[in-house]
Amino acid sequence: MSAKALAKKALKPLLVSMADRFGPHRRPTSAPRLWVLMYHRILPEGDPRYHQEEPGMRVTPESFDMHLRELKRHFEMVSLGDWVRAREAGEELPQHACAVTFDDGWLDNFEYALPLLRKHRVPATLFAVAEKIGTDFQFWPNVVSALMLGGVGPTLAKHPVLGVEGMGASHPSSDQVAHCIKQLKSYTDEALFGALEELHWRDLLAEPMTPALMNWAQLKEMQASGWVEVGSHTCTHQRLTSALPETELQREIVESRSILEQKLQCPISLFCFPNGDYSADALALVERHYTGAVTTQKGINDAANCALHELVRVGIHNDITHTPRLFGARLSGWV
Ligand SMILES: [Zn+2]
Repeated sequence: MSAKALAKKALKPLLVSMADRFGPHRRPTSAPRLWVLMYHRILPEGDPRYHQEEPGMRVTPESFDMHLRELKRHFEMVSLGDWVRAREAGEELPQHACAVTFDDGWLDNFEYALPLLRKHRVPATLFAVAEKIGTDFQFWPNVVSALMLGGVGPTLAKHPVLGVEGMGASHPSSDQVAHCIKQLKSYTDEALFGALEELHWRDLLAEPMTPALMNWAQLKEMQASGWVEVGSHTCTHQRLTSALPETELQREIVESRSILEQKLQCPISLFCFPNGDYSADALALVERHYTGAVTTQKGINDAANCALHELVRVGIHNDITHTPRLFGARLSGWV
């Protein structure tokens, strides 16, 4: 390790401590702000799904319980939809508002997040992939991970697309799995799903995978709890880049809203861009059909001036938020 890297490592605890103690979440600000937290999965460490997931996607129920407790100390917890509507109406906004969001509609959100939202009486917004709810859809990184951890890596290694460096390991570590997934991200989702289908990946697993996403009854139950507002995260989770044809863009943005409204029998007013990607056309369409939208860009929103359809968020995952101090530092936006 270089002297510079060593110094950085040595200073990290100090920086974390300073960020936790003196970050903007601790101090009154001259203008109201909105923190939007981005969660994906809530899974206990003992659950096999925890190990099939990338570290950047998961938070344990114990950490989430602590997060909600801490958040209530520093913020006025708001529903994102209510906050957006209040700003649109020109109402007075809380000084330190914080909204919890979940992307995708994972089954574990129903299993582990809902009871904790209820317990702490904290509202949240869940962005659902409309056409994948209640299906056996799996995200490709989880499939690759399950196959590798199931000892199928050597078979995948022979495939022209999937055979990236390190794939041949028969007992891979989680770092090796992460390394392979990272390399595969250079391919399109279509190419990766195509490659996995070619290999009949479901037949290669000793046990079928647990459904990734919740079903409609579970999504309805979350909504009926009174603590969860549902927003759209497109129909199929395609990236809304300029490469996407106009008809597809329309379907992903407009049709997803109709599906959710029809199934859930309530208006849908919020949107979340998959992977944080969006073209100018995608943004224009989202502005026309929704009252607000979130990106994956990191930051804290200045309530008066932020663009309601390009709200920035703070990504939360277990590795960097499993103690109150680390979580506080993350909320500062400094680390
Ligand atoms: Zn997503």
